[in-house]
Amino acid sequence: MIEEYQLRVLPETAANEQALRRYIACEKGKDERTLTAIRVLKRSIDARQRTIFVNLKVRVYVNEQPEDDEFVRTAYRNVEGRPQVVVVGAGPGGLFAALRLIEAGYRPVIVERGKNVRDRKLDLAKISREHKVDSESNYSFGEGGAGAYSDGKLYTRSKKRGNAGKILNVFCQHGASVSILQDAHPHIGTDKLPRVIENMRKTILDCGGEVHFETRMDALLIEKDRVVGIETNTGKTFRGPVILATGHSARDVYRWLHAHGVEIESKGLAVGVRLEHPSLLIDQIQYHNRNGRGKYLPAAEYSFVQQVEGRGVYSFCMCPGGFVVPAASGPRQTVVNGMSPSNRGSKWSNSGMVVELHPEDLEEKSLADFMAVSGWQPDVRHPLAMMFFQEALEEQNWQQGNCRQTAPAQRMADFVNGRLSYDLPASSYAPGLVSSPLHFWMPKFITARLAEGFRRFGKASRGFLTNEAVMIGVESRTSAPIRISRDGETLQHVRLKGLFPCGEGAGYAGGIVSAAMDGERCAEAAAAYLGG
Ligand code: FAD
Repeated sequence: MIEEYQLRVLPETAANEQALRRYIACEKGKDERTLTAIRVLKRSIDARQRTIFVNLKVRVYVNEQPEDDEFVRTAYRNVEGRPQVVVVGAGPGGLFAALRLIEAGYRPVIVERGKNVRDRKLDLAKISREHKVDSESNYSFGEGGAGAYSDGKLYTRSKKRGNAGKILNVFCQHGASVSILQDAHPHIGTDKLPRVIENMRKTILDCGGEVHFETRMDALLIEKDRVVGIETNTGKTFRGPVILATGHSARDVYRWLHAHGVEIESKGLAVGVRLEHPSLLIDQIQYHNRNGRGKYLPAAEYSFVQQVEGRGVYSFCMCPGGFVVPAASGPRQTVVNGMSPSNRGSKWSNSGMVVELHPEDLEEKSLADFMAVSGWQPDVRHPLAMMFFQEALEEQNWQQGNCRQTAPAQRMADFVNGRLSYDLPASSYAPGLVSSPLHFWMPKFITARLAEGFRRFGKASRGFLTNEAVMIGVESRTSAPIRISRDGETLQHVRLKGLFPCGEGAGYAGGIVSAAMDGERCAEAAAAYLGG
């Protein structure tokens, strides 16, 4: 017999199978010895009250054993000799497009400018140790894309057509823990992601697909109104319809598209800083306990959002028990982001704290003045306007950080009170911090809203607005600064057939799961294009 129950238990009960079995037997009037297996289907933490509960949905097997896997397997078939599709970029968008093409019986040929996920790691270490950013191998470029060395959060607020559950199951099939199917806020962790990505590559190769690392697409091959392949920096060309999943940091791709008259449009994004607190402090606040999270609870998360003077101010991509990382993808720029290991066990918790920005905002005085210093006369109709702003902000940030990967930083309360920080707290940011008046040199459009947002967050959550927290500049890669125009039905570029703009870089996704879902959609559209 199989039965399912919704339970509300203490964290120590949820964390221990024996204790959970005893609890179910007692609550449901069962003989404990007959409960042969318990499967957790859903798990979420309710920390609204002083006593913390864990809500569980469980499947209980009475006198029988589960016969199926805990996840649903996808069947991949051999696609050798089948028509090929060129997939540019091996981020979540590109990898899931390739896997979905295989399911549909087409051969993916992946072209990736960066290195394989293991070799890439050495280049990431060089950014922190030697302040050297390799323009082809960094936190944005390389196998696994921007999501490889991240927190691996796997939830999406996207309401677009797609099956997030399928994406999670594919991750499990390639080695991710089944806990990602259970948790309300699943995450894989940066220590586990590389192996999952390698397993995906193995599936693609085993089925007859190709993966070319250190091979950068430099141009699209266009015949009349049709994209028929790509040219690369190695001199090799690859022919077939193209799924363009190059991510939000491939500015050379955006420039190429614009220079060759391929329609792109400017779009809004959000920019700000990374905010880092001691994780103990966040645990104390969120779990209402001066001892923090104790033995059975995970590092606490938070999420804030406020409207300030017509623009959203919000926390973004929170990494509890994580690290702030140097996420620049080229010279003369400093950019920060966050990642966490699977146990979220570091001493710090960080999050992006960003202000929503629309292209027309670039005409606002403080933003226009900021851009003028970098020699750019704002033309808000320019499709690359927002990208120019990102570049100017990241270069200014680099200069303020002594022209190295050391990042300008300021204590949180000092920022709100417009004071320079005379010293800075310890931080997880490995290249190091430099005290800097962020309130002074960042555009007022952003700093005034951030400061007001922080005041309100501090009111809502006592102890959050504190000088124990440090703001680290700048968080500027929250999404793509442009959208590559595509047809809503065929997912092809509005003018070029055979070109499928895909994922975050094309402006159709934000985050690992939504990029993966868009990858699947583009693969289906490419299959329909070839099938037709
Ligand atoms: P990308 O992942 O950016 O992949 C694009 C790929 O294209 C890259 O591998 C790049 O090398 C390649 N490429 C670019 N140009 C070319 C070219 N010309 N030729 C060949 N290849 C090219 N999201 C979450 O949902 N959860 C998180 O926890 C999370 N944490 C993050 C932490 C960090 C440090 C970063 C940087 C991002 C994080 N994100 C997170 C965001 C997430 O990684 C992205 O939303 C997601 O990776 C986008 O997927 P994508 O496939 O569209 O693009």
